[in-house]
Amino acid sequence: MPDNSLTIALSKGRIFEETLPLLAAAGISPAEDPEKSRKLVIATNDPDIRLVIVRASDVPTYVRYGAADFGIAGRDVLIEHGGEGLYQPLDLQIAKCRMMVAVPQGFDYAAASQPGSRLRIATKYPRIAAEHFAGKGVHVDIIKLYGSMELAPLVGLSDAIVDLVSTGNTLKANRLEAVEHICDISSRLVVNKAALKLKHRRLQAVIDAFSAAAN
Ligand code: AMP
Repeated sequence: MPDNSLTIALSKGRIFEETLPLLAAAGISPAEDPEKSRKLVIATNDPDIRLVIVRASDVPTYVRYGAADFGIAGRDVLIEHGGEGLYQPLDLQIAKCRMMVAVPQGFDYAAASQPGSRLRIATKYPRIAAEHFAGKGVHVDIIKLYGSMELAPLVGLSDAIVDLVSTGNTLKANRLEAVEHICDISSRLVVNKAALKLKHRRLQAVIDAFSAAAN
């Protein structure tokens, strides 16, 4: 008997909301809203398909070890994770934003980021930040944070931050300004490699539906 069950790892918030239309295109509708429910395992209209709600940065881990057959993760999370052991067939073009360097308004970033200079950078994305500044020949002390990066330069913890920017409102509210664009970010489908072989027909149908709906 082929195993027809599918477990999908998703994070709450923007990725979940923007994934709903893709799930609908694949004929999948969640039985509950994870924003309202405290359940971490959510059933769907298909008895063989369930969702697991995990932190965005944990999606690659659940998929890599096969606890979820596939999931949706931001490019930011995938670069930091490394993406080992994951098949990434599709950029879904959802949860789009930009990875930026930001500094307090009025800070002379051009002068402070000359090759050979040294900067303190607070970020949730140490790998992306280190690669970016290595490419510019700027020495950096990376201070790893888990949230509210915008606070760090305001209280003297760092000179600058590397963070995701969408509308720019959070930066503006904290008197920060974006000074450098590192890369564009969107979310991707990540698939467990063994599941792709063992549940190929079922998974390929979902990948095809997502692909058609994402274009
Ligand atoms: P905004 O004020 O619209 O520029 O949003 C910035 C805040 O939202 C920052 O705290 C970011 O870390 C977060 N953010 C923006 N876009 C995303 C995204 N696509 N995924 C996760 N966090 C995001």
